Amino acid sequence: MNFDRDYKMLIGGALVDTADALEVANPATGKPFATCPKAGGEHLDQAVAAAQAAFPAWKATPIDERRALLKQAGDLIMANADALASLFTREQGRPTELAKQEIFGAGFWFHSTAALDLPVDVTEDNDQRRVEVHHDPLGVVAGIVPWNFPVLLASWKIAPALLTGNTIVIKPSPFTPLCTLKIGELVADLFPKGVINIITGGDELGPMMTAHKGFAKVSFTGSTATGIKVMQSAAADLKRITLELGGNDAAIVMPDVNPDKVVPQLFTGAFSNSAQICVANKRLYVHDEIYDKVRDGLIELIETAALGDGSEQGTEFGPVQNKLQYDRVMALMADAKAEGLALHHGKDGPNEDGYFVPLTLVDNPPEDSRVVQEEAFGPILPMMRFSDLDEVIERANATEYGLAGAVWSADLEKAQEIAARMETGTVWINQNLQSTPFTPLAGHKKSGFGAENGIYGLREFTQPKSVFIPKSTDSVC
Ligand code: NAD
Repeated sequence: MNFDRDYKMLIGGALVDTADALEVANPATGKPFATCPKAGGEHLDQAVAAAQAAFPAWKATPIDERRALLKQAGDLIMANADALASLFTREQGRPTELAKQEIFGAGFWFHSTAALDLPVDVTEDNDQRRVEVHHDPLGVVAGIVPWNFPVLLASWKIAPALLTGNTIVIKPSPFTPLCTLKIGELVADLFPKGVINIITGGDELGPMMTAHKGFAKVSFTGSTATGIKVMQSAAADLKRITLELGGNDAAIVMPDVNPDKVVPQLFTGAFSNSAQICVANKRLYVHDEIYDKVRDGLIELIETAALGDGSEQGTEFGPVQNKLQYDRVMALMADAKAEGLALHHGKDGPNEDGYFVPLTLVDNPPEDSRVVQEEAFGPILPMMRFSDLDEVIERANATEYGLAGAVWSADLEKAQEIAARMETGTVWINQNLQSTPFTPLAGHKKSGFGAENGIYGLREFTQPKSVFIPKSTDSVC
């Protein structure tokens, strides 16, 4: 297989091209380097019809056979990690070594999800009857994926949907379609035709999917603004939905930690993937007693971080993924400058055409400034002082988002008390950016609806069906 060309959609087991093409740019140069298919309504109809046709037999396939195929899919992805990672860097921007971690992460997710189980629950079992709760698949799932973790987040949808007996149509972001298309090619002959379909196109393809009557469920990851549109559209025929949306996650750093140990971890939590992580540390609240030391330590790391083209050796941070996002982050930066806030920048990028944003720390901006209130989704981190714990928890919770948060403290009991008061779907104590295939990621407030991963995630792809079974046939014979 050639990973540098021939990007085709996967529909009903066939690799499909379209007359129209979608250009894909390299964020390190701003220049298109590949084209891929641009699906219209007829391709979407074909993909849904193929997934519908495949559904009855896939649903009836013993779960152990479905597990085995998912594991093989994981193996294929990992066996091609080098080629996929190099393509990943060109379309997404992330340094290749880190891109490879995402490819292995997706393989790991296929394997781990395949090992999960959603057994029949028994809610009553006595002399008269037994009541069982089965978990039926829903039908055809629409999986809509963003550009920041394009491969991993697709695996979070494909693996649980297929394990539970659904079939799926996946749509990657128009900014990062290529690795997903190549993964489609890798697994084209593995799964029965139509079980997994991958279509690519512009943003207009998303609303066409959420309005399509052939889908039973939409599993969406992306911004809160789009998530609201997805929910509105899905409401028309009561499609099931899972929404993994934006966040503006707070980290609270207590005065009892050692700044030298914590600073590198805070830096990673805030700036990994050039801060384009839904659960990145996006607001940093540091106790007054250690504020200056933590700030100075972060500035030192920011100033020495290597920003560049992810395909170059030694690059630690790549560009922002696309022009729209670049413009958003630069607008936030301009706004912070205009407000007179204290900004500390890292190195500039290697050229003016790529979407390079220097890593930036904003020193103690007011709580109501845009850079604190909005999800930046780019490398500009506001860091604020606090001295009163109750007050800082209130500030951390004063947001419409509730994705994740972190507490840093030498007192684990105290940290758990703080965690209990945080209004987020995940809280990390003395760590960050952790997620596992066995643990739900579920956004509170406007960060989401439903959950991904683990048994909680599997349930999202199923319909509970209660079956009442009498112990005797006396009532009918
Ligand atoms: P986005 O909402 O612009 O796009 C996400 C996907 O939705 C893309 O595939 C896009 O083509 C599609 N889309 C666009 N308009 C649509 C519509 N009207 N109906 C249906 N689909 C539509 O998001 P993005 O810019 O790609 O991603 C960044 C956002 O995603 C950030 O807010 C980030 O926090 C969030 N995110 C959340 C998680 C999570 O697990 N909670 C994970 C990653 C990213």
